[in-house]
Amino acid sequence: MLNEVNEQFRDSTTRYIKNLMTQSEAIRKQFEPSFYEALEFGRPQPFEEGKDNSGIYGLERIYEDRAVLTPYFGCASYCRYCFKKTRTLAGTAKLMSEENMEQAIDYIRRDPRINTALITGGDPMAQPKRVFKLLEELTAIPHITKIRIGTRHILFQPERITEELAERIASYNHVDYQNPLNSKNISVGVSINHIDELQPEVIAAIHRFTKRGVSVRGQMVLLKGINDTVTDLKNLLDHLLIIGVTPYYLFHCMDVIGTYHMRTSVQKGLDLLAQLTEFSGTYAVPYVYVTPVGKHRVSPGHTLDYEMIDGKRFIRTRSPYKASRFKAFSGKSVLPALHDEDEKGFIVSRYLDGNDTPIRY
Ligand code: SF4
Repeated sequence: MLNEVNEQFRDSTTRYIKNLMTQSEAIRKQFEPSFYEALEFGRPQPFEEGKDNSGIYGLERIYEDRAVLTPYFGCASYCRYCFKKTRTLAGTAKLMSEENMEQAIDYIRRDPRINTALITGGDPMAQPKRVFKLLEELTAIPHITKIRIGTRHILFQPERITEELAERIASYNHVDYQNPLNSKNISVGVSINHIDELQPEVIAAIHRFTKRGVSVRGQMVLLKGINDTVTDLKNLLDHLLIIGVTPYYLFHCMDVIGTYHMRTSVQKGLDLLAQLTEFSGTYAVPYVYVTPVGKHRVSPGHTLDYEMIDGKRFIRTRSPYKASRFKAFSGKSVLPALHDEDEKGFIVSRYLDGNDTPIRY
């Protein structure tokens, strides 16, 4: 079964991560291929970010005000739970060409409703020159005020986040005191799932951004047997806050192929957050699960509504998204599978739940 997994998905990490894997179970489980990945489970693309819905390869849009650019699908290390694993770990996606990047910039320039650009991957910081080029072009567009860079490179190769690189990224930040809406905010979204990832080198790399006014936001994925206890999450959130990283989202692990063993129930995350609220308001990190129409936020106190389909348990909810909007911005004429429209035009979504049966790695 492991051979099968290795034929389908690459197993590659940096020397830095390899070393941490020998010291931390939580890190080893995130990067080491597991025979569980060969179980028949999951969808190839649970969320189509990076797919060419706009008609331009590498440019995605499902919200009115945000465009997502995916210049590069490679990463310096490959996380087994990656929701894009059929492109990142499978190595099937090509780079955005120069022409694609120009078309994408032109698309964004022509639509003043777009004020946010997310540069994601793969890991865009594995190819910083492409990020600089996009920052150059995007900050020249008057209606683009917020640019986010999604990365784990800070963790994979912290030494590559040099003072010069951080300085260059920070140089695109601009606060206009007279006309605040003319400001440009560049932020870095880093995925950190466990306290063991916050090594001194990683904290120093994060600090190279924060000391220059580049906000760093922490995203976490709830992973079974890795960070699914109150102690793990509290410890991580405490550390993030203390080193100046704003906890941004706690994601439920998506139902991508090969993640059966890593997915808790959605309720488990709610229970953990309910226990964290005892400590202080700072633990009110948004907890979301994602379906092809976007994020769905659930908070402690929320009662989940279940629906059984073909013997599997799904969470059914009326999403905050209108079907008409989704179709307009995604370029799709029909809603994705397991989604339909209610009488008020909102999308009703169904999301495959996980389970809390312990797994032995
Ligand atoms: S760094 Fe991000 S894109 Fe790359 S494998 Fe990990 S989760 Fe996926």
